[in-house]
Amino acid sequence: MADMLTTCPYCGVGCGVAVSLGEPAAVSELLAVLPPLESDSISQHAAVTVHGDDKHPANYGRLCVKGSALADTTGLERRLLYPQVDGLRASWAHALSQVAQRLQDTIDNYGPDSVAFYVSGQLLTEDYYVANKLMKGFIGSANIDTNSRLCMSTAVAAHKQIFGSDSVPGCYEDLELADLIILVGSNMAWTHPVIYQRIIAAKKARPHLHIVVIDPRRTATAESADSHLAITPGSDGFLFDGLLAYAIKHDHLAHDFIAAHTEGFAALASACTARNASLAVAAAATGMDESVLSDFYAMVCAAPKTVTVFSQGINQSAAGVDNASAILQCHLALGHIGQVGAGAFSMTGQPNAMGGREVGGLANQLAAHMDIGNAEHRDLVSRFWQTDTLAPRAGLKAVDMFEAMASGKIRFVWIMATNPLVSLPDANRVHEALAACDCVVVSDCVDDTDTLRLADIRLPASGWGEKDGTVTNSERRISRQRAFLTMPSEAKPDWWALCEVAKRLGYSKAFDYSGAAAIFREHAALSAFENQGRRDFDLGALAALTDADYDALEPVQWPVPIERPEGSKRLFSDGHFFTPTGRARFIDAHPSAAKAGSATYPFLLNSGRIRDQWHTMTRTGRSPRLLNHIAEPFVAIHPDDLAELGAQDAQLMRIHNRFGRCQVRALSDAGMTRGQVFMPIHWSASNASQALVSSLVAPQCDPISGQPAFKQTPVAISPL
Ligand code: SF4
Repeated sequence: MADMLTTCPYCGVGCGVAVSLGEPAAVSELLAVLPPLESDSISQHAAVTVHGDDKHPANYGRLCVKGSALADTTGLERRLLYPQVDGLRASWAHALSQVAQRLQDTIDNYGPDSVAFYVSGQLLTEDYYVANKLMKGFIGSANIDTNSRLCMSTAVAAHKQIFGSDSVPGCYEDLELADLIILVGSNMAWTHPVIYQRIIAAKKARPHLHIVVIDPRRTATAESADSHLAITPGSDGFLFDGLLAYAIKHDHLAHDFIAAHTEGFAALASACTARNASLAVAAAATGMDESVLSDFYAMVCAAPKTVTVFSQGINQSAAGVDNASAILQCHLALGHIGQVGAGAFSMTGQPNAMGGREVGGLANQLAAHMDIGNAEHRDLVSRFWQTDTLAPRAGLKAVDMFEAMASGKIRFVWIMATNPLVSLPDANRVHEALAACDCVVVSDCVDDTDTLRLADIRLPASGWGEKDGTVTNSERRISRQRAFLTMPSEAKPDWWALCEVAKRLGYSKAFDYSGAAAIFREHAALSAFENQGRRDFDLGALAALTDADYDALEPVQWPVPIERPEGSKRLFSDGHFFTPTGRARFIDAHPSAAKAGSATYPFLLNSGRIRDQWHTMTRTGRSPRLLNHIAEPFVAIHPDDLAELGAQDAQLMRIHNRFGRCQVRALSDAGMTRGQVFMPIHWSASNASQALVSSLVAPQCDPISGQPAFKQTPVAISPL
């Protein structure tokens, strides 16, 4: 049998995966690992083997260790297999009626803004589209936000501010064709491994390719790079402000490009002068030697083709939008946008963070990259969806949404494919928020997460290998996730559960889809509706796909307008941007002072992923070979700090601040800068540890994007 081609469900690289199936497991074997069920209600899961899809343009056959272990995660252990209402097993019909009734009761009593959906970059685009349509289009509230808020909403805001649209200009191939790659706040060797493998292979083929890593930690990526700038945490804005000042001073500007395709440069240059932006200021703020910075700036200005990749080190900051904007502006000033081998590149963390943006999964978006604050866009979407109850204004962003639950303003929440009790900042407050809700509905494919424990209604969702739809990776490439396993027991797609609830609320006509292909067609048609090139996101060429075409859809990069069915590798190559004037905008993204520790909390805590685990480990935690890499949580700390605390490597440490407390082993790490510590994000109460790093993180967000600052949390640390 031919391999089934699908897409990896983990990071934003979006690798193609080829799957082959063996014999189904015997029902008797399944019964040994499943909760009590009738044997005839269990679908048989076949043995699965995976390898990289040789033809997929994201990975050309490569998979990282997580992707290679996907077959270990498709078993039925720990699966949520039937609906539950108030702790009791229920039929789907009863559970859906209860969701609809409690949702409607809350709206009737407290208004549409008293309900919320909290969704996920794990959802497929089709699930996301239906969730957004139901909440914004028919319930009439924009209180739908996503865990992608924690991942890339800062990049979205910066793209819109500077380019006029949420568009990633380049593609992965640019990383192989650049002369200089700058990785900012990205441990790509661990977090986006296949792209890093492509970069390393490119460097072997073209040894002059220079790789610079900007990161306070000496990560695995920094170890293998040509240069590492271990800047002061949070000082990125000063670094890029200094670069702009250097380019102005030494006249490395792309004058023709600036004159023809941008606006606001003169004002920005004046603002830089007025606040004395300079090499010396940047060196002082970043903690770097002036000579090191000067060499770096000279290298950037001289490089013919530069790609700057930015990720969570930039995005998860209280000044993230300013810092990301500073990066984009440096590329504009040097003319390094939309060119082969040159551009600014935001790497998304999740498999479908980009797809969520496309359908409007953020509370301040509408759909198809339209703005909820734009009356013309609201009118267009209202007519397309044939609704007169479209949400009139933006909803609450993730952190504010959960605060509104804690204060009683939001009383009903439906959470899909995410575990906010572990991933949102100030975890103890999130617990209070969910406990205060009248009704918490959770759709998930596993049967025990910290969030599920607080659910009134649990809905069994289909998982990877059972779901059918599309995802979009960091280079705007839409790929199919295909179902190759039958849905076990009573598991169902999220879009189906949403449509069934919508029908019970009285919206049958608008939610009568025959399947994922029909939803995708509508999503594509909306993107092209009255567009005529005015908006960046256009899937017009995909709006009339037959079901068979959809099944066979090859990976393609948006925009895919009718006149360009092959898709678009790069954007802005013609110097046209999606602002009202068609010009990119320079703004004064002035840098903010980096956060410092205090006498009470002298260490700055950084947090992030490790190489072999994914988020809260509900899938990767099932693979013994992935657990072999790092089996338990830790706090990485410089050996001199450890000695000063009177502690040793592997000793249990207490990490605390006014928000919470953790208890993990020390990992002596000379790659840490003194005064800084690092903890992974994967462990929580449900995997039996006291390492819930989000319980320490303040609910402080970037004022524009609403993305929480996970990277610089003041803490105290002591041996136990
Ligand atoms: Fe999956 Fe990312 Fe690894 Fe590719 S790099 S196999 S998308 S986890």
